[in-house]
Formats: sequence, structure tokens, C-alpha cells
Amino acid sequence: MPANYKAELVGCFGDPVAENPTGVMQEAAFNAMGLNWRYLTIEVKREGLADAMRGIRAMGFQGINLTIPHKVAVMELLDDVAPDARMIGAVNTVRREGNRLIGENTDGKGFLRGIREDGGIDPKGKRVVILGAGGAARAIGVELALAGAAELVIYNRSQERGQSMVSDLKSRAKANASFEQWSKTVHVTEEVDILVNATSIGLFPDVGAMPDVSLDGARPALMVCDVIPNPPETRLVQAARARGLKVLTGLPMLVYQGAIGFEMWTGQKPPEQVMKEALSRAFGL
Ligand code: NDP
Repeated sequence: MPANYKAELVGCFGDPVAENPTGVMQEAAFNAMGLNWRYLTIEVKREGLADAMRGIRAMGFQGINLTIPHKVAVMELLDDVAPDARMIGAVNTVRREGNRLIGENTDGKGFLRGIREDGGIDPKGKRVVILGAGGAARAIGVELALAGAAELVIYNRSQERGQSMVSDLKSRAKANASFEQWSKTVHVTEEVDILVNATSIGLFPDVGAMPDVSLDGARPALMVCDVIPNPPETRLVQAARARGLKVLTGLPMLVYQGAIGFEMWTGQKPPEQVMKEALSRAFGL
């Protein structure tokens, strides 16, 4: 009887990486689809990234995810980078095309699907406030600009990072973007359609923390999005819910960015419900 005991390999390089839950949902998806694939969560130090990337070429990995601190550094180790990942300035997913390794960024695409499908909002023509100017904020900003958002206002604690994000949004994604230094309470006015917390304020284990924003002047139709998937309901999401505002948690973004990666790697439609349930179980929901 013919047999094939060779598994296809993908995974994640990061440091720290032990708490990254992506493997849970990807392995659940491979099992559900009957694929002999493995997702390996691997600690790779900053100085080890180039060797690790040579390793995945040598071992024929089908792809890899990158997390802190590798999303920018990996770009010069690839054969090509997709246009939107280049605009964002970071890669979170690498896929293979023959022997070539191509960089992609699925974070912003995952957010966009979440706000459209789970949030029921098309960002086209919308005025958006983004809190934060790190990797997640950059990915979300670029995809919102490409999706036709009318205005992006970026609040960030560090001026340098905030201004650099806005200047890249304007020059690379032709966005109508501006920067405000975040040194005191951000008052969300009624002109704002969408508020996105793309900082790590409130991320486990710091679950009591909340971004310094006031929703007192917000329009009733404001949508409040938090990128943080753990805890499942941040204090910001709870505060918005208590006011009757629409909310979007970080879970849809996490599932969809992984689902997009699954399809890039395997060429098959991802079993999204299986992936969502696996993550929900991992978060104890
Ligand atoms: P980065 O480290 O690149 O950026 C962190 C951002 O948070 C910066 O803008 C930083 O501001 C800001 N920040 C952190 N602490 C504070 C504070 N105390 N006060 C004010 N600002 C603060 O991280 P990422 O962009 O990669 O990740 C951000 C969040 O997004 C994380 O919580 C992560 O879990 C989440 N995420 C979720 C995903 C999903 O699929 N749901 C995918 C990717 C990320 P400053 O520049 O001033 O330091």
C-alpha cells in the first residue's frame, strides 16, 4: 500500500512566543481538513532570525508566521514582499512560491474582514480614530486607507512612532491621515465613526488597564474595536457595551488573519468555525 509519512511544516518564530495561541487554531484546522501538516511554535532570538530563515528554506517549510521582534527584520531575508506588506513596513506571514519566500501581512486584512463581516460596517467613507502606532496599528491603518476610509487620526504616546506612521500612510497608501500626540484624555467626538484600540493597553495579564479615552461625546452609532484578543472583553469593550455602542473584539481579527494565512499556505478554504472554536476553548470561553 502506498504511504506518505512526510508532514508539511509551518509555524511561528518569535521571542517571547510561548503564549502565542496561533498554533492551536492552525492545528485544529489541519486536523479538520485531514491535512498532514504541523504548526510549530518556535522561540527564535533576534540574532538567530537569519539562520532560522535559512533553516526553513533547507527544510522546505511551506511558510512561517513572524511575531515580536521579527516582523520588520524578516523583510530583507525574503525573495519578495507583497505591496501592502511593503506599505505597512512589516511581514507577519511568509508563504512559498516554488523555492521563493514571499512576505505578506494578514493582520490588517484580518481586521478588515472582522469589521465588515462581524461588525457589519464598510469602512469606505468613514472617519476613524486609531489609538497606537505599532505594528498592528500600521497594518490596520494601511488596510483601512486602501478600503477607502475618509479620514484617519492617529493618537500615539511616542511622537516619533506616530509621526512616522502618519507620514508612511500619506506617502505609501495616499491616506488622509493626521497625528495627535496622546498625552491626555482622547475625547471621541460625534464626527468619529470608528474607534480602534491598536495598543497593548489592557492585554493579559494587565487586564485592569484601559486606554485614556472619553466616550461621553460619541455618536450612538460609534463602533468601538479592540485588537486585543486576550482577555476576550477588554475594559474598553465593556465600557463601550455599557453605553450601548457597537463593539468588535480582537477575536475575529485573530481568526481571520490566521484563516487568510491557512489559505495562502494550503490553497484550501479554511474551516473558520473550527478555528474560532479552538481559540475560544484556548481562551476558556
Ligand atoms: P507594538 O509594540 O508594535 O505597539 C504597541 C503600541 O501600544 C504602541 O503604539 C505603543 O505606544 C502603545 N502602548 C503600549 N503601552 C502603552 C501605554 N501604557 N500607554 C500608551 N500607549 C501604549 O505592538 P503591536 O502593534 O504588535 O501589538 C499591539 C496590540 O495588538 C497587542 O495587544 C497585540 O496583542 C494586538 N494584536 C492583535 C492581533 C489580532 O489578530 N487580534 C494581531 C496583532 C496584534 P508607543 O509607540 O508610545 O510605545
